[in-house]
Amino acid sequence: MSEEQDMITDIEVPINLKYNFTAGAAATRFLTQVKKGVLTGQRCPECAQVYIPPRGSCPACGCATEEEVELADKATVQSFTIVSIPIPNNPIQPPYIIANLVADGANISFLHLISECVNEDVHIGQRVQAEWKPEEEWTHAMDNIRYFKPIDEPTVPVDMIGKLPVTGLEG
Ligand SMILES: [Zn+2]
Repeated sequence: MSEEQDMITDIEVPINLKYNFTAGAAATRFLTQVKKGVLTGQRCPECAQVYIPPRGSCPACGCATEEEVELADKATVQSFTIVSIPIPNNPIQPPYIIANLVADGANISFLHLISECVNEDVHIGQRVQAEWKPEEEWTHAMDNIRYFKPIDEPTVPVDMIGKLPVTGLEG
């Protein structure tokens, strides 16, 4: 074999990994509620921030979050991206919008799709609502919600996103 032969600089090695995901206590409770069509956050006993999906502790205070808070399936757009490039193995064909949404009653965002709209009209502060799959298709997954769609409500000012009134602390 000649040493002049071209060097191999890269090879393709298909990899197929199969693994089981253990959700943990907080996410298990959250996904159990999602299967019933209910979004549930957890409120921090120290700073009163409501997190969805809950992780069982407050990332700001570090303390355990056990109080569960049922949230509306309406939300506000905090930020978004119009995806134009197809992602391998992703069944969703571009262009589509992936957004950070803050559910009413919650203080931090989660990722979901926005649809049933002109992509270029989507804006920060826009009000959206969940479009659920038919109930018989619900599983323990956030894609029970197909996407969020714009609703006819006034745009939320940027400095109010995630700061809409949180109820349940009275008294
Ligand atoms: Zn906290």
